[in-house]
Parts: sequence; C-alpha cells; structure tokens
Amino acid sequence: MKERKIVLSERDIPRQWYNIMADMPNLPRPPLNPRTMKPVGPDDLSAIFPMSLIEQEVSTQRWIDIPEEVLELYTLWRPSPLFRALRLEEALKTPARIYYKYEGVSPAGSHKTNTSIPQAYYNKKAGIRRIATETGAGQWGSALSLAGKLLGIEITVYMVRVSYEQKPYRRIAMETWGANVYPSPSNRTESGKKILSENPDSPGSLGIAISEAVEDAATHKDTNYALGSVLNHVLLHQTVIGLEAKKQLSIINEYPDVVIACCGGGSNLGGIGFPFLYDRINGRNVRVVAVEPVSCPTLTKGQFRYDFGDTVGLTPLLMMYTLGHDFVPPGIHAGGLRYHGDAPLVCQLYHDGLIEAIAYGQTSVFDAAIQFARTEGIIPAPESAHAIRAAIDEALKAKEEGKEKVILFNLSGHGYFDLQAYADYLSGKLMDYEYPEEKIKEALSRLPEVPA
Ligand SMILES: *Cc1c(COP(=O)(O)O)cnc(C)c1O
Repeated sequence: MKERKIVLSERDIPRQWYNIMADMPNLPRPPLNPRTMKPVGPDDLSAIFPMSLIEQEVSTQRWIDIPEEVLELYTLWRPSPLFRALRLEEALKTPARIYYKYEGVSPAGSHKTNTSIPQAYYNKKAGIRRIATETGAGQWGSALSLAGKLLGIEITVYMVRVSYEQKPYRRIAMETWGANVYPSPSNRTESGKKILSENPDSPGSLGIAISEAVEDAATHKDTNYALGSVLNHVLLHQTVIGLEAKKQLSIINEYPDVVIACCGGGSNLGGIGFPFLYDRINGRNVRVVAVEPVSCPTLTKGQFRYDFGDTVGLTPLLMMYTLGHDFVPPGIHAGGLRYHGDAPLVCQLYHDGLIEAIAYGQTSVFDAAIQFARTEGIIPAPESAHAIRAAIDEALKAKEEGKEKVILFNLSGHGYFDLQAYADYLSGKLMDYEYPEEKIKEALSRLPEVPA
C-alpha cells in the first residue's frame, strides 16, 4: 500500500527557526523612514514592537531557538501532516508524485498561528498587556485572537467594516477566543473619526484599519501592534512548515523538484520555501514557485522599488515589488492575496532569480479547488487554491513530458469560512477579472521618490 500521510511525532517539531538572511546572496535593502529617507532604526519601531522581535527582524543568525512555551503551544496542532495526493494524481493520470503540507489543521484554520503565537509570547515577555491589529476577512485576526487568549494578552481587532457586516462568522470566532472586534473606521481613533466625519457610511479598507491599529498601539504605552505577514520575523516563524516537510519527505526518501505556495504577503511561501532554498543556495536543484492572482500580480507585473507598506502611507518604506500602495485590486475571493506588495525577503530572492512566480485568474483557480475537494476531500482556502492550480499544471506538464517529478505544495488553510466563494462558483457567478493594467500604471505613478 502506498503511504498517504507522513506524520511526525511531537518530538519532531523543529526546535529552531531557519533565518534565510544568513545565506542570501544579497540582503534586502533596509526599510527607510519616509520623512528622513534614512534606514529605520530600532528606536523607530520600539513604540509598537517588542525589542526581541525587532532583533529577529534584523538578525543574520542562521538558526534561532524557538522558546519552550511556544513549542508547547505549537503541539496544539503541530507537527502538521504531509499528505501524498494519491487520488488527485490518479485523476490527473500523471507520473508525478504530488505532496502537500496541510496547515489548515491549526485551530484558526491557517498557517498564521505559526507566527501569532510567538508574537503574542514575545509581547507578553516584554510586559505588554494588549495588542492591536487589523484584519480584512479575518484570518489574521482569528490567529492572533487565539494566541492572545492562550498567552494572556488582550487583543483588539479593527476589522474592515464591509467584512464585519458581510462575514460575521470569523468575527464570531475571534469573539469566541475573547478578542474585542470593532468595525473600522471606528470612533476609537483619530484616524477613524476623521474618515467617519467625512463619510459616516465608509465601508472601510485594510489601509484604514492598519492606520487605526497602529495609532492605537502608538498612543498606548501598554499596547503593541502585530502584523500577520510581510516582515522578516513573520517569515522566520513560518519556516517550521518547510523544516517539518523536509523531515517528512526524507523519511520516505523523497526530495521535491518543485516547491509551490500562494503568495499574498509571502509568509506561507517563505515558510515552506526557505528551508529548501537553503539547499538550493548550497547547490541542490530545487525550484520554488510563488503563485499570485492575475488581478493582483505583484511579482509578475510590479516594480522593484521602495514603497509604503500600507495604503495611507504611515509605515516605513519597504524595498519590494509593488503595484503602488494605493492600488485597490478587484474584489476576488482570495482576499489574503490582495496586497499591493510582498515581503522584502521574497522580493529580493525573486529579484536574484532564486524564486519563480506565476499568476492565475480566479476561475481556473476554482476549477483546481473543486478538483482537489472532489479527490482529496479537503475544501481549500481560495488563497491556497492558487498553489493547487500551479501544482496541477506542473503535474500535467510532467505527464506531457513523460517525466517523473516530485511536487510539493503548501495547503495554507481550509476554506470552510469561504463557502460563499464556492456558492458563486457552483452557480456560475464567479468571474475572472482582467489584469488591471491601467489602474496599476496609475498607482505606480504615485510611488514615493527615493534618492538613489
Ligand atoms: C493570509 C493567508 C494567505 C496569504 O498570506 P501569505 O503571507 O502570502 O502567506 C494565504 N493563505 C491563507 C490560508 C491565508 O490565511
């Protein structure tokens, strides 16, 4: 009998995170303070982040110990299973062997708990009482709400008002884990009040919600801010995914030819990909592929330059591929992939040719999601379905070429809170958006000028 799942024991959870900054041929250029255009120092960040996370953000030490208390909480769902997609392989009649790492087993349903727990831990240790954050559809808010409850930190979530009203279930999950969730714009912050005075019916946006959360953290001494993707320390925490996957594949004497993940801010891609890029930098032949939506094609169509991390222009400037900080992508169902930039680490590695990128439209992504659900059983998050599409296409190419190939992809989360997207697909209402070339061109014309 062919093995379908490779499961590790709790003793096999990695004890250290892998920091790719120790091995990159070129480090990313530093974040800049938008007022002085000078590199951001620890003091600029200490109003909203604990020093331990700021140190991780700039560390070039290859291995960083995972604290005992974090390891203990990781055992709530880690190690996550590695599956071989035998029924999908059969349906595709491919000679390729397809494996997927399933991060949907976490209590919040996605990989984001891999970082929400250490972030809550380091804040707690620094004496912080409360963390403020933003959430769009609610995946990050859920992961941080759970972590806050487990570690004894109060969580305040500013949730984009349209999602707050249209997608109540994730809000209820956050409240079940004890968080306080406010529709954004709110009248709890000056940023929110200003927007509400101009437009009392504002539907909100992720940019506004970020402004509110950052302001809340910056104006309260006992409160910090936390981010669910993009930053170096977030990608560092996610490397438990790839480290476990390597161990699981080695048990069955396999090694991937290609490692695939969807890319919104880059954290699950970095998480599964960086431990394999370590091998690639050391001469091994392995491809790492980022998958993004055609409607928000950051790596495949963006420009590599400094831009704000948020829409409003409050954050430091990050060196990244960007579509322009005020670009508003079409409302695709994979909300987690609608970010105008990507993690500076992912962008530098892509720029240096160590990562590839590909973009798909949402109907072909949902074709893949449905095929996966009907063979492997799990209903995938719309974000994760981008990786499935690319994995299926790699498997079909292997079939055409008559080649054996080992494909590994990250199934970053389940889709049980995203059933409206499936309802739209099944009733034929799901549509493809054109590549928004004009809107991107416009947004790119408004990028900040940075002296060379
Ligand atoms: C948030 C999210 C993403 C996108 O974020 P990355 O930082 O690119 O990983 C992808 N998949 C799921 C399930 C998510 O919740």
